[in-house]
Amino acid sequence: LSYKDKYLSDEIWDMNYEIYISISDNSYLKMYTFYPGPSKLYPEVEKYLHDAFQSGILQANHRSLAFMDMMQETIKLLHQKLEIPSNYEIYFVSSATECWEIISQSLVQEQSSHFFNGAFGEKWFEYSKKINPKNEAVLFDIDDVLPEILSNQELICLTHNETSNGTQITIPKNNRSSLIAIDATSSMAGVELDWKNADIWFASVQKCFGLPAGLALLICSAKAMKKATEINEQNHYNSLLFIQENHKKYQTHYTPNVLNIYLLMRVMQEIEPISLISKKIKERAANFYDFIDKKTDLKPLIQNAKVRSDTVLVVENEKAIIKNIKSKALSKNIILGNGYGQWKDNTFRIANFPAIKDHEFKKLIDFLT
Ligand SMILES: *Cc1c(COP(=O)(O)O)cnc(C)c1O
Repeated sequence: LSYKDKYLSDEIWDMNYEIYISISDNSYLKMYTFYPGPSKLYPEVEKYLHDAFQSGILQANHRSLAFMDMMQETIKLLHQKLEIPSNYEIYFVSSATECWEIISQSLVQEQSSHFFNGAFGEKWFEYSKKINPKNEAVLFDIDDVLPEILSNQELICLTHNETSNGTQITIPKNNRSSLIAIDATSSMAGVELDWKNADIWFASVQKCFGLPAGLALLICSAKAMKKATEINEQNHYNSLLFIQENHKKYQTHYTPNVLNIYLLMRVMQEIEPISLISKKIKERAANFYDFIDKKTDLKPLIQNAKVRSDTVLVVENEKAIIKNIKSKALSKNIILGNGYGQWKDNTFRIANFPAIKDHEFKKLIDFLT
């Protein structure tokens, strides 16, 4: 408990104390968590963890046939369940943050153009500038649609679902020479994506995939890989061409998170096709926004319904009211996601991810009523 004095302000301590205690006495699992990442795991993960241990795969070499088989199967299932086109390659890396770097290293010669309206898009831009200082930023308002994209940019970087403020963009048709890269960390495996409209997609698995953190998917079109070959960047352990070279053998460029790949395979075997999941998630989002509007004193942070996220639902009111709701929720074993960045104190965020069951959403709605 000496952490309190050392690291935490009173306010942060108040919000974290019960969570801290409940993790230390194993009661956290019984709480209803709506935190948008790390987020609720699929409950089946408990059994899969046990199965993973029993199978022996966790102590097998990552160049072994057993590993290569598992990787091939996982990739096949991802193509099937998420409806990823067969000419897009799916690579395993460690995080969305790593994808930001790989893209700047291996797919950009001069500069990338970043369109964003929130904290994750901005972070991507800031990291990318350390590699390519000429990168440019185009900011837009949280209630605005994505500004028009010029066709002569080298690489366009978009955040499909801005986890910090609960906005979502419509991805424009891909009929230009520029490459488009999309951070879909908080929407992939939650809603259907128009894969063909972009060349590079990525997401880490601790959001809509309902898995523990420490693994991400980087998905690249043939056009993206052609550009990588032209640039021929080979300076890093995670240079895209080196990743691809290993991938051809169903191997990875470093010892990967075998456990999480195993869990991903099991989750992909179990889930419904993304078209069905997507329909349910969108309905649940629409019902929630409607409820917030009509039945509570709260309001959605995003006024323009066309740009509201389906997977991260952000609710606004005065600071004191939000703080009060969050602590009342905790006393009912409900964990609301804190606001993020500039919206930290006047909003809370609700993960509308597939691992969260309808009866849990009902519990949330009953609480807010
Ligand atoms: C969570 C998140 C990230 C960061 O993911 P890491 O796995 O921590 O790298 C990046 N972008 C978006 C949109 C996110 O929601």
